[in-house]
Amino acid sequence: MPKNIYFTPGPSALYFTVEEHMRSALRQQIPSISHRSRQFSYIYEETVAHLRALTDLPDDYQVFFTASATEIWERLLQSCVIEDSLHLVNGAFSRRFYNMAAQLGKSAQMFEVPDGGVVLPAALNTNIPPELIAITHNETSTGVQQPLAHLKEIREKFPDAITTIDVVSSFPLVELPFEYIDSAYFSVQKCFGLPAGLGVWIINQKTIDRALKLAEQTNTAHHGIASLWQKYQTYQTPVTPNVLSIFLLNKVLKDMIDKGIGRLRMEGKYKAALIYQLMESHENLKPFVSNPDWRSQTVLVGDTGGRTEQIIQKLATQGIVLGSGYGSHKKNHIRIANFPTHSKEQMELLVDKLTTIYEG
Ligand SMILES: *Cc1c(COP(=O)(O)O)cnc(C)c1O
Repeated sequence: MPKNIYFTPGPSALYFTVEEHMRSALRQQIPSISHRSRQFSYIYEETVAHLRALTDLPDDYQVFFTASATEIWERLLQSCVIEDSLHLVNGAFSRRFYNMAAQLGKSAQMFEVPDGGVVLPAALNTNIPPELIAITHNETSTGVQQPLAHLKEIREKFPDAITTIDVVSSFPLVELPFEYIDSAYFSVQKCFGLPAGLGVWIINQKTIDRALKLAEQTNTAHHGIASLWQKYQTYQTPVTPNVLSIFLLNKVLKDMIDKGIGRLRMEGKYKAALIYQLMESHENLKPFVSNPDWRSQTVLVGDTGGRTEQIIQKLATQGIVLGSGYGSHKKNHIRIANFPTHSKEQMELLVDKLTTIYEG
């Protein structure tokens, strides 16, 4: 069977080196090693070192592993919030985080904008100083990107809060200003091109200290920041982690370091520009996010005016898989992942195919 090219926003195409790394993992029997072994601790430690090297992560930030990004939402709320969290809601994922806070009995506040927009810092008017501020950098549901320039203003407004940012579908292509961020997280099936099933949580000492201080009052029955931190001292995890996935992440991080983060980011911009240019030049396929400054560079969303199903089907017959719209946008949007594994040539091919569909 010929191989498909997956432009779906997660899971997506595997990073092009993953197949070989998976073979090597099996040869080395990685899935069978104990997570209490020195071999595992070494893999964990090296993965953190690679992440630091690739993304200029400051020494004050540590890296925890969970089962998913969604799990990190719950761990954050349970470990860092007694009462009040504040959520910038710019799409379906940020709304789900807010809903989870409400489900866990927190008095969560939400500042919401219509899909395609971003929450401006000036709109964050509250008399209750929040313990946690939740920001979603790249809304995979609509392709909107919250400008990072807002982070400084948010920090100045709420200096004591734990500021946490969802970079699930933009990291490592986004360059984060860590001085304004206490916690950031991603899952590996988006930009890293790995099989799903691993959440990666970047967390600073302020957040860890806050969680330790609140430990008596918070409910972290499964595990929380305190237990993750305790096990991290010897590069272990409280529960049996996805060792295979951590191994693969370590290898892909090294591949990305060798390629160079600057080059990855530049190629990402080039490929995004190709697609947005195509959308700008066709009446019947508009970028969904109208403000160019708010358009995602990694999840490119076009409004098809109701033709999504036809487009997706036509491309599918040619081995190209696009994402449909998210939720209520299902029939009107296409979503195109622009991750490091998608080559310039693949993106150019996609532009050709879409042009043929639109120009006949
Ligand atoms: C995919 C995604 C998530 C959820 O990730 P899981 O690994 O499925 O928990 C959260 N936030 C954003 C922005 C996402 O794109």
